[in-house]
Amino acid sequence: PRLVIAIDGPSGTGKSTIARWIAQELGLSYLDTGANYRAATLWCMKNGLDFDNPDAVDTQQITELIRTMPLAQDLNPNNFTLALDGEDITEAIRSDEVTAHVSVLSTRAQVREHLVQLQRQAIDARPRIVVEGRDITTVVAPDADARILLTASPEVRMARRGQQLRETDQNPSNVQNDVIGRDQKDSALVDFMSPADGVAEIDSTELSLEDTVTVVLAEIQR
Ligand code: C5P
Repeated sequence: PRLVIAIDGPSGTGKSTIARWIAQELGLSYLDTGANYRAATLWCMKNGLDFDNPDAVDTQQITELIRTMPLAQDLNPNNFTLALDGEDITEAIRSDEVTAHVSVLSTRAQVREHLVQLQRQAIDARPRIVVEGRDITTVVAPDADARILLTASPEVRMARRGQQLRETDQNPSNVQNDVIGRDQKDSALVDFMSPADGVAEIDSTELSLEDTVTVVLAEIQR
């Protein structure tokens, strides 16, 4: 039977780690929708879209590009990987450039519509799944069996993101912009700061990763 678990929240809440952990624990597939937006951004970069002038970028041009995006993803939580045209992009989509450009795509309704459609198709193909993002509980899968919003204070989110960047040998100097700046941009079309009706908010500010997983599992089994 179908079992969809939707987890939303801003960056730095540990969302990806927790969502993947839950999927492993429950033997479910795993879809990181942020990785979709990142892959689409990388694809547009590879195809010469001018991100230096974001205001001049034509939404139609982005949607055309995304329509032909040769994206393949492995939804196994032990091996979540993405490929564009056969080339593994799992690490490339985490670059500073992609992170800096992704909001150019995600703040356009038409682009979102297209990616939401792709995500729903992915869910229908693997309907026992943990899906994480910003609009899963509200737009992509409002009918999910469990709907959770993960939050944490801005200070804690910045600290966690900084640590994550250092652990993966990335530049942590931009963390304020990466976390707070991106959240401000990203919330233009989507509210992922407060829970929608029927969505359980779990505040992880004071919780360890392990404890957050325990609380999320309890909410799922409730
Ligand atoms: O979660 P992550 O930080 O990897 O997401 C990258 C970007 O993708 C976000 O900053 C946001 O612009 C976009 N995104 C979105 N809706 C989602 C997931 C991600 O707009 N459901």
